[in-house]
Amino acid sequence: MPDALLLILKLFTLSLDIQKIRNDFPILNQQIYNKPLVYFDNGATTQKPQVVIDEEVKIYSKENSNIHRGVHYLSEQLTQRHEDARKVVQKFINAQHDHEVIFTGGTTESINTIAFSFGEKYINEGDEIIISTLEHHANIVPWQMLCERKKAVLKVIPINEKGELLLDEYQKLISAKTKIVAVNQVSNALGTVNDIKKIIDLAHQNKIPVLIDGAQSVQHGEVDVQDLDCDFYVFSGHKVYGPNGIGVLYGKEKWLNEMPPYMTGGEMIKKVTFEKTTFNELPFKFEAGTPNYVSAIALATAINYIQELGLENIAAYEKELLEYGTEKLGSIEGLRIIGTAENKVSVISFNLDNIHHYDAGMVIDKMGIAVRTGHHCAEPLMDSLNVEGTIRASFSFYNTKEEIDKLYEAILTVKQMFS
Ligand code: PLP
Repeated sequence: MPDALLLILKLFTLSLDIQKIRNDFPILNQQIYNKPLVYFDNGATTQKPQVVIDEEVKIYSKENSNIHRGVHYLSEQLTQRHEDARKVVQKFINAQHDHEVIFTGGTTESINTIAFSFGEKYINEGDEIIISTLEHHANIVPWQMLCERKKAVLKVIPINEKGELLLDEYQKLISAKTKIVAVNQVSNALGTVNDIKKIIDLAHQNKIPVLIDGAQSVQHGEVDVQDLDCDFYVFSGHKVYGPNGIGVLYGKEKWLNEMPPYMTGGEMIKKVTFEKTTFNELPFKFEAGTPNYVSAIALATAINYIQELGLENIAAYEKELLEYGTEKLGSIEGLRIIGTAENKVSVISFNLDNIHHYDAGMVIDKMGIAVRTGHHCAEPLMDSLNVEGTIRASFSFYNTKEEIDKLYEAILTVKQMFS
C-alpha cells in the first residue's frame, strides 16, 4: 500500500469523535459563573462517563449485597461481578494472574500497603530505599516513615532543569544496601514521563525490586506490567475515569505471597482461633474487611470505556493537545513553562512573572476554567525547582483546542489585571 494511503488510514483509525465523547460526560455540559465549564484539572481527578455513573446506580438499585459471604442469589451474582472486574484490571495492565491484582482504596493506600508490608519483612537498619525528586507525597512519606521505624536511609534521584530524572545519578545511588526502588511513571506536577523500563532494568541487574506509581500514567497510554517487569504497580480509579475510593495494587505473586498482610480483620483470614490466625490466599490476604465492590465493578466499566476509545487514540489526541497548548501558552510573554521534558503527557505547569499562582488561579476560575494551583503534593520537587508552586493545566481526551484558546485568553486577562 502506498505510504500516503497508509498515513490516511492511520489518521482515520486514530481519530476520536470529541463532541460525541463529551456527551458521555454529563458534568462537562454546564455553566460555571455563566460560562461553559472548561475542566483542566484532570491530573487531580478525571470526570466520569455516564456508563460509570449508571453502573453504580444499577448496583445500588438492583444488585447490592455483601460479596464473598452469602449463599443467596444477590451475593453470588455480585461476587462474580467483583471477580470479573479483577480480571478486567488484570487484562488492562496485562498481569499474569488475576490474584496479583489487589483492590485498595487508591494509590496512597496501595503504596502504604507495600511500604508497610514489604518494609516489615525486608527492611532492616542501614538498608537503603531509592525514590525520586519527582514523587508525589504519597510516594515519599510512607517510605520516610518506614525509614524512621527501621532506621533505614532514603536516597533521592535528582532531576535536570527540564524536570527529567538523571539516570546516571540513579545508577550511582544503587548499592548493595538498596532494598527497593519506588518511582512514578509520570510526574503529576510536571507531566514528565520517566524511562521506567531503564530504571527497572538497572535495579533488576542488582536484584532490587521496583514499585511504579502509575497514578498519572494508566489514563494516558497502555501499560504492560509483564513487559515492564516491574515488581509492583499502583494506580487510582478516580484518575482513570472510574469512581473514587478504589485503587489497584499489582504485585508479582512471589512478593505478595512472601509479604505479611497490612490490614487485618474479616475476609483476609483462613482460620481464626484466639490462639492463632492463618491468612487467606491471594488476593484476599490483602483485602481485609468488606471490599468496595461497587467501585471495583464501576472501575472495570471505566476501563472498558477507555479501552473502547483506544489508549493509542487517547495518547495521540492528548499529544496533539499538549503540542498545541505548549505552543499557544508558551507564546505569552512572561509565562514560564515549568517542566519541559522531551517525553511528557498532556500536562502544562507554568508560572506568570510577578503574579502569584493563587491569584492567577482565582481569576482563571472566574472565567469558568478549572486549573490547579499550588505545590501539587510535591513540595520537595517545588523546592528543587526553586518555586513555591505552579498553575497546572492537565488535559484529557474530552478537552479541545478551543478550550485551550479560552485558557490563553484568560491568562492574558490575568496579566492585564495585575500589570
Ligand atoms: N501518586 C501520584 C503521581 C499522584 O498524582 C497522586 C494523586 O494526585 C497520588 C499518587 C495519590 O493518589 P490518590 O490520592 O488517588 O491516592
